[in-house]
Amino acid sequence: MKVIVDKDACVGSGQCVLAAEDVFDQDDDGIAVLLQENPSEERAEDVRQAAAVCPALAIRIEG
Ligand code: SF4
Repeated sequence: MKVIVDKDACVGSGQCVLAAEDVFDQDDDGIAVLLQENPSEERAEDVRQAAAVCPALAIRIEG
């Protein structure tokens, strides 16, 4: 699984951090920061959940 965050689209809602705090963080402006580009398979469900709840559709998952 590869995770891509479109920082230009991100609106800083923090939903991704709530869903998977070891994969996503937020910078001082609230914009998402990717902590793990290739999270382990056991984190996959939470990362998919993060992408699903992102109001800006800023999280893309490949693989
Ligand atoms: S859920 Fe989406 S909009 Fe909100 S901080 Fe994460 S990437 Fe940005």
